[in-house]
Amino acid sequence: MAKKSSPRIYGVLGYPVKHSFSPVMHNAAFSALKINAEYRLFEVKPEELDDFLNSFSKENICGLNVTIPYKEKVIPFLDTLSDEARLIGAVNTIRVSQDRLEGFNTDGEGFLKHLHKDLMFNAQGKVIAIIGAGGASRAVSVYLSKTKPKKLAIYDIDKAKTSALVGHLKENFKDIEFIQASSIEELKVQESNLLVNATPMGMKETDTCLVDGDFIHNNLLVYDLIYNPQETKLLKMAKEKGARISNGLGMLLYQGMLSFEIWTGKNAPQEIMWRALQGELKRCHMQ
Ligand code: NAP
Repeated sequence: MAKKSSPRIYGVLGYPVKHSFSPVMHNAAFSALKINAEYRLFEVKPEELDDFLNSFSKENICGLNVTIPYKEKVIPFLDTLSDEARLIGAVNTIRVSQDRLEGFNTDGEGFLKHLHKDLMFNAQGKVIAIIGAGGASRAVSVYLSKTKPKKLAIYDIDKAKTSALVGHLKENFKDIEFIQASSIEELKVQESNLLVNATPMGMKETDTCLVDGDFIHNNLLVYDLIYNPQETKLLKMAKEKGARISNGLGMLLYQGMLSFEIWTGKNAPQEIMWRALQGELKRCHMQ
């Protein structure tokens, strides 16, 4: 009898990662396309990151997603970086190719695909406000800047991060007015067409809503990168005030599809992956 070959291993590297929806999404895709592969969680403590990344290929890993807090920290371990990952300054996808580690970033493109294809929102010429200047915000703001908005304002609790990101955007994108806001009020949400929450504020029940309801209006799309809970306090409030809303499940889907295609070279099965994500969300809410 022929010996069954061992599966190709993929996974998500982060700390913590137990909450990740990526395993159900990718394992559903592997199974639908009859690819002998398995997607796992790699929860690696910060003090073990060097060892993990250095002994990588020995574990037969063919590809990884990278999440909080390692999207920037993995870069020195990689042999190549895609243009997108270099421009964003963060990596969310690693492909192992003949022992070489190649870094990509699919977060920005995933976000923009959801915005364009599903939400029919064209950011060209628009006024945009973003809360957060971390890894996800870097990806989202770079991709939004590629679409030539009129104005893009960013606020983060950490002034140095806001300043670094706004400086980076100014250097790379001309003809866009970038604002380094030092408070939520300075974001001028009331004058914006798109508000993005790119902070983890809203994931916990006890988190407060970062934006005052008086700033929300019915010509605004409020996009929260958080997808669990499905509706954060920000989204609930914005819906009540008549704004359009979206959580980040669509972004998760598209960034995952792009990673899948980088690893396998095959078209990702969108419907299968989407159903897997929705099933996981339902499962979380029943617990
Ligand atoms: P991150 O690198 O930690 O960045 C978050 C930033 O928000 C940090 O600079 C943080 O500052 C700042 N922040 C925290 N609380 C704040 C507040 N009250 N006001 C203003 N700024 C605040 O995290 P990330 O990787 O960018 O992820 C951000 C969120 O996006 C997370 O919820 C993540 O799950 C989500 N995400 C979703 C997707 C998707 O596919 N839907 C993809 C990527 C990320 P400090 O560091 O000083 O706290």
